[in-house]
Amino acid sequence: MRVLVIGGAGYIGSHVSRQLLDKGHDVTVYDNLSSGLRKNIFAEEEFVQGDIMDYESLAATMKKGFDAVVHLAAFKAAGESMLMPEKYSRNNISGSINIMNAMCETGIKNICFSSSAAVYGEPRYNPIDEKHPQEPLNYYGFTKLAIEQILSWYDTLKGIKAAVLRYFNAAGYDVKGRVTGLEKNPQNLIPVIMETACGVRKKLEIFGDDYPTRDGSGVRDYIHVSDLADAHIAALEYIGTNKRSLLVNLGSEEGISVKEMLAAVKRITGKEVPFTIVERRPGDSAELYASSKKAHAELGWKAERSGVDTIVESTWNAYRKEILHE
Ligand code: UDP
Repeated sequence: MRVLVIGGAGYIGSHVSRQLLDKGHDVTVYDNLSSGLRKNIFAEEEFVQGDIMDYESLAATMKKGFDAVVHLAAFKAAGESMLMPEKYSRNNISGSINIMNAMCETGIKNICFSSSAAVYGEPRYNPIDEKHPQEPLNYYGFTKLAIEQILSWYDTLKGIKAAVLRYFNAAGYDVKGRVTGLEKNPQNLIPVIMETACGVRKKLEIFGDDYPTRDGSGVRDYIHVSDLADAHIAALEYIGTNKRSLLVNLGSEEGISVKEMLAAVKRITGKEVPFTIVERRPGDSAELYASSKKAHAELGWKAERSGVDTIVESTWNAYRKEILHE
């Protein structure tokens, strides 16, 4: 396949591109490098530096001819989205509409869209399946849900087939060490723990240890980013072959607490990770993890690298190399 990966220089995008290249696909990356990194662009791929707000540039790139678009270009900080909704409306929603309209103009019929478990909001039950009510607790989650709905209309009205992938907590790095760009100013748990283990941060703040969970800390479903990447390829093949849109959760189906993750990092890295317990973070749920049965059934996909040890080891290898130069 000839695939245009929009946001392909970012954390998930670079892993998706890597996996596509490994499987022999032709990859062009379109990225404005606002959070993506030049070092995440592989020698085998074409690169266009462009913004999704620049419709002309998007359409000109798409005119080169692609079988599918993978769209991962979005802001993703839930807290920030509550303070700066305009930024999220503009980039996430308007940017996605630009992508869809440029696809209509250039005749590209398939898109794989990064959605999020944030569309569900406060879990009514676990594991969360795709039928769980969608009541986002933050504006970021709302933008993802809004785009899902627009995609569904573009399927009906314009015949664009979409694979909507609702990620749980993406984690880990390429196990072969080929993705070396670390996220700038990360806010997510594992990179924050890694930066603390490397001495870049003084301590990890654990956002609450009085949740009704097995150890009081928050429980999440961590899914290895290369497992996510595999699912993108399977999903593109699915919509291309079946000419039908698809919406699936992607998670490991296993809940891990903050304290369990911290213990795993200490065990695997042998490093001290100072921490302090602070207030709960607004908008955080106690516990959530996925049912990925639909992805198993429809795509024959299974998380294969999403054990805690593989996630932590592969992340540590990237941090150790890039920050500690070991
Ligand atoms: N978390 C934490 N300290 C941090 C970052 C995250 O205690 O510095 C907790 C957070 O409250 C949640 C879990 O780690 O229970 C995962 O948070 P993350 O931001 O990585 O993902 P999200 O909760 O947004 O899915």
